[in-house]
Amino acid sequence: MPIYEFECEGCGARFEELVAAGRAAACPSCGSERTRRLYSEVAPPGRQPRGAGVRADESRRREREGARQGRLAETKKRRAAGEKP
Ligand SMILES: [Zn+2]
Repeated sequence: MPIYEFECEGCGARFEELVAAGRAAACPSCGSERTRRLYSEVAPPGRQPRGAGVRADESRRREREGARQGRLAETKKRRAAGEKP
């Protein structure tokens, strides 16, 4: 479940809460349920799930590798075509 930041419309308090998507959380300081979800998902580095960044790096690396292979194949094709018209 993602951590969302909420702002209470009653007392203005801001708090973070783990909630299912589309759900609101009650204000911890006044108990009001008139809370507004702030549209910045709270994800400070210390709280990021372990491995998320690593996986992103890995997929970026694979993308680059794939692009490189594609260019190599393209170059080979052109070279082959040039050498044997
Ligand atoms: Zn409140």
